[in-house]
Amino acid sequence: MLSSSGHHDATRIGQENVAEKRRLTIISIVVVAILTIIVAGVTIWATYLIRGWDGVIEDDGVKTYPYRLPDTILPRHYDIEIEALLDGATTFNGVVSIRLEVTTETNVVELSAEEMQFVAIIKATEDQKKQHAKNGVLPAVDGKLAGISIKSEKTSSEVVLSGFSTAVLEKYRKIQVHTKNNLEKGAFYILRIEYQAPIRTDMRGFYSSKAADGSTVLSTQFESEDGRAAIPLFDEPKFKATYQMTITTKLKDEKTRVLFNTDEIERTNLPDGRVKVKFDKTPLMSTYLIAFIIGQYDYIEKTDGKIRHRIYTPVGKSEQGRAALEASIKVTKFFQDLYQVEYPINKMDHISIPSFASGAMENFGLITYRETYIIFDNATASQLDKENGIEVVSHEISHQFNGNIITCAFWTHLWLNEGFATFMETYALDKTYPDWKRGLKKLTNSVIYAADADSVPSADPIVRLYDKIQSKDEIDSLFNSITYDKGGAVLSMFFNYLGEDKFVQWIRSYFAKYKNQNAETKQLLELLPVQNVQETATNFGTWLHQPGMPIVQVNENADGTISLSQNRFFSYANATQVDQFKNSTWWIPLTYVTSADGDVKKVEMSSKVPSLKITDKVYKFNYHKTGFYRVNYSTKMWKNLIAKIEDFDTEDRFDLFNDIFSIATSTVENIDSSLMFEMLLALKNDDTSILWENMYQSILKLHQLLAAESVSNSFSRMVKDLVKNKYESIGWTNVPGADEDEENLDELRPFVLNLACRFGLTECVTEAFKRYQERNSTIIPPILRNAVYRAVVSNGGEREYYQILNQFKAEQDSVERTKLMYALAYTQQIPLLQTTLDLALSPHVKPQDSIFLIREVARNVPSGPNVAWNFVRTRYDAILSKCGQDQVSNRLVYGVGSLFTNIFERDELIQFFAPNIEKLSMKHYSNTLEAIEKNAKFLSKHLPAINTYLTEKYPPQTL
Ligand SMILES: [Zn+2]
Repeated sequence: MLSSSGHHDATRIGQENVAEKRRLTIISIVVVAILTIIVAGVTIWATYLIRGWDGVIEDDGVKTYPYRLPDTILPRHYDIEIEALLDGATTFNGVVSIRLEVTTETNVVELSAEEMQFVAIIKATEDQKKQHAKNGVLPAVDGKLAGISIKSEKTSSEVVLSGFSTAVLEKYRKIQVHTKNNLEKGAFYILRIEYQAPIRTDMRGFYSSKAADGSTVLSTQFESEDGRAAIPLFDEPKFKATYQMTITTKLKDEKTRVLFNTDEIERTNLPDGRVKVKFDKTPLMSTYLIAFIIGQYDYIEKTDGKIRHRIYTPVGKSEQGRAALEASIKVTKFFQDLYQVEYPINKMDHISIPSFASGAMENFGLITYRETYIIFDNATASQLDKENGIEVVSHEISHQFNGNIITCAFWTHLWLNEGFATFMETYALDKTYPDWKRGLKKLTNSVIYAADADSVPSADPIVRLYDKIQSKDEIDSLFNSITYDKGGAVLSMFFNYLGEDKFVQWIRSYFAKYKNQNAETKQLLELLPVQNVQETATNFGTWLHQPGMPIVQVNENADGTISLSQNRFFSYANATQVDQFKNSTWWIPLTYVTSADGDVKKVEMSSKVPSLKITDKVYKFNYHKTGFYRVNYSTKMWKNLIAKIEDFDTEDRFDLFNDIFSIATSTVENIDSSLMFEMLLALKNDDTSILWENMYQSILKLHQLLAAESVSNSFSRMVKDLVKNKYESIGWTNVPGADEDEENLDELRPFVLNLACRFGLTECVTEAFKRYQERNSTIIPPILRNAVYRAVVSNGGEREYYQILNQFKAEQDSVERTKLMYALAYTQQIPLLQTTLDLALSPHVKPQDSIFLIREVARNVPSGPNVAWNFVRTRYDAILSKCGQDQVSNRLVYGVGSLFTNIFERDELIQFFAPNIEKLSMKHYSNTLEAIEKNAKFLSKHLPAINTYLTEKYPPQTL
């Protein structure tokens, strides 16, 4: 799954999903060693116990947590029949027959189900209903329950039932069918359940949403644990089975499509005008990958080898799916070659869903998306919009292999799905669309999100322990930047360390061994194609099993040599927390160059030896930022690096900029914060989009933090000074023939224009207004529209605001609508900002977008945080009812709260949420409080020095 559209939001600030506050219990080495031997049977994992971390192994050997389903019964095949109509019905009917294999004699079949009406309960006698209401158990009558049966496969006879329990339903979202006698070990049975379930509206399970033309689409979103809201299932990744689906519905016209993971094999017209569609049996797969959809669509298709690729679009838009169709074919071919595994379904469908909570979902053979990722109108979508969308397509196709063919054993190993997909989405595009240079872009967004999320004390390790993940809330919280971005970043570091050939060999052996199965992290590491597997696995494990990232401290010795030491890097932490992690160490595959164009040297820093001496005269560490660590040099070395910044390659300039900015804003590290301004100013003539993108992000972050301070004026002057030259040299359009790298300029320009207009460079604002007014005669290139719309709203009045608002309301194209919508968050007039917030709850904004719009308002400087917070407090119930508890818990609380900069605001937030605290995601809530403390600490530590530097260099002026 792609967890949110935030990944491709150019104004994203900070992380939504920083890790949760949880410290692993320190278990004594003896206990762990014994456990290790019991569980692994070998001692290789005992090497994890070496200093630096808690010595916890990933599989603790305990398989029966109350939250989990027991292993006594394994589902092997499901026959599912769904009856659902597009006529506005609020429920649907279902029958599921599951072929079960009994592995341990038992008289209880336990499976997952949520909010269902069981025929057994509907048809129960009054007495039975009373008993059920009392203790949640429905007793059988004469060994039978209406709508529930278990049949022995061998004898075809029905098993005598003793009861049906929904008592465990509420807490663990499970049900139990009890039998009078034990089910036999090794035997097969067919469990059949009839039920009715709601057609939901909160974008999970089986839900309805409205297309732009007003038609209804019924579709599914099952990951992580919402399949059980639509079908009673064994809803855990490890219970792989095959599925055969039949859907009965009524077609509205010839464009009504009825879709499932596999292709249709039989269609029957029923006498009452309905149609019954039967689908092919699926390959072995986990329940969260099931999908079925009913709705009106057009499509385009192309068959390549054994696979038919289709892009389903809203009616009339099929041609806009061309780019995605081409990518689907190219990328699928690439992954089949890479993994040396055949894709097991004869079709690869990609379909847009009107309302979709995450970015996209990798359902086997039927991938679902937000419209903006697969439908591109050339008139409104820029090249970058397309690349960002196609990267999502690549992510989901990579999942058809890692995720769908090999699936993580449990969500604690989710990075095997998502960290892989994050790495692979870019790796595949670098091979299939090399001109796009997506690898470079990955370095400048995904990798910094990972580092940000990993630099707070509450960060979790990539691989989690089973006993820490015992609720839906905890599972959902794993879809975070650590799992995705850090997972991808450390995999990229392993790739660079092993080299491409060995890396590919490693991945292929993993697929050869575990295809159609589940895997845990250690099973991947055991297959490392290196001399000393055990040692390398332990080294890699320092990145997977402990939280945080290291910072390498560089010290120059008097004799000209260099001494290195490492410790955990914190963007924020208090003294106790720093102390708590003082022994954390990593194995670091260090690289360095001895001159700007010198050879790359490699040296490994052990996790066991605290320091390392290098006799070379080092110019820069972490060549091309291929390692997931920060480097802090001496002030003298930093000054030298800043002076020579233009000599470095793009990746290294970016690395140095990102490191100094992070270190100088950290509340723990101690370097002179003026160095980050010196670095910024030294980069003012830089000619790459990725540096400008990151300067833009960093400047906005500081702008927000300093908004309420008197130094804000000097800061704005500095930004104007920084951006002026660049603005004048690149202007608004390329001069044909004069600019060497037009594509880079196209991507660089929006950041320069956004900065220039936002910080009030008059020429820029004037030109933005002119272009907006002339938009009907001279089309604004799609890539400049964000800059133009935002400048016009931000610097204009009511007239311009309502012009953009009306344009938004009339616009049909999703990509263009998104640009217009976010621009409305940029007004400087508080009543209009209020109008934007009201818009977020109006029918003009889809539930999937409302919270993103509120967050964008919160980022408005200076009034955004307060205006948005007042709105959240006064309209909380309305927000909840439109967006659902999950969206509010996972996105809104942090999105708005993390922008606060003082403790009073933090206390206000605590007070507001206190009555509803148990409904929130604890992880996101505590991360929000942590973020506020971090902001407040930043100001108390750094404001005086920033003030001195900026007011001296840029004395405040009346603007
Ligand atoms: Zn994914």
